[in-house]
Amino acid sequence: MKIIYIFMSHEDLRYYYKVVKTIKGKCGCKYPINIRRMKLSSTLCGDCSFDKDNKKFHIRINKNQSIAASIDTIFHEISHCLSWDKDKDDHGEQWGIAYSKIYRIYEKYIHN
Ligand SMILES: [Zn+2]
Repeated sequence: MKIIYIFMSHEDLRYYYKVVKTIKGKCGCKYPINIRRMKLSSTLCGDCSFDKDNKKFHIRINKNQSIAASIDTIFHEISHCLSWDKDKDDHGEQWGIAYSKIYRIYEKYIHN
């Protein structure tokens, strides 16, 4: 099986970290969010967990993704942080509201 790795350019990475910093700063999450880009299974874009002892969210982002997919994964996972324990379904209404909030932060502060 051939594995194709997608590398982000230096410029892509700068943009990625700008998006991460801006959204983390403006999303109003109750707890700190720790985000790491790393090697994950090829079928996993990213995931999110809550560390109850340290009251902190941990997000893992698959580093083998394009800049666009990485940013979409950031939106997706931070939405889980904002809607944590508020929905019955993983991607329920509160998650959707959180996603739209994050998207609007992105539109207002970055994509203009
Ligand atoms: Zn999800």
